[in-house]
Amino acid sequence: MVQGDWNCCECNTDIKELPFNPRNTDDLKCRECMQKGRPERETFEGEWNCSKCNADITVLPFNPEDTSTITCKECYLKEKSERRQSKMVEGEWTCKDCNGAITSLPFNPRDPESVACRDCFAK
Ligand SMILES: [Zn+2]
Ligand SMILES: [Zn+2]
Ligand SMILES: [Zn+2]
Repeated sequence: MVQGDWNCCECNTDIKELPFNPRNTDDLKCRECMQKGRPERETFEGEWNCSKCNADITVLPFNPEDTSTITCKECYLKEKSERRQSKMVEGEWTCKDCNGAITSLPFNPRDPESVACRDCFAK
């Protein structure tokens, strides 16, 4: 840390130390203002490969610690939707079309009277 006596150009807070020696002391920002001004989503550039489909990955929204488990956006989204699908809701419903019993659904039905079984739903 570099010790000094500066002022934040935005909120005028005293700045006593900085992680670097400022060249331009007129537009220094305190830690809080610096964090505020930072874009919300940082991206990291690099050369990785998707662990699922082996596609090239050049940008990631995070800095990967374990590069062997990186997935590209497509695989990531696919996995996410698969995970969502595996979250089945257990219950006892009757199919509105074929009257078959339904014991699990991928969602909690708002209207239990209009539930269709997987077969009828696919039709
Ligand atoms: Zn400030
Ligand atoms: Zn992939
Ligand atoms: Zn049915």
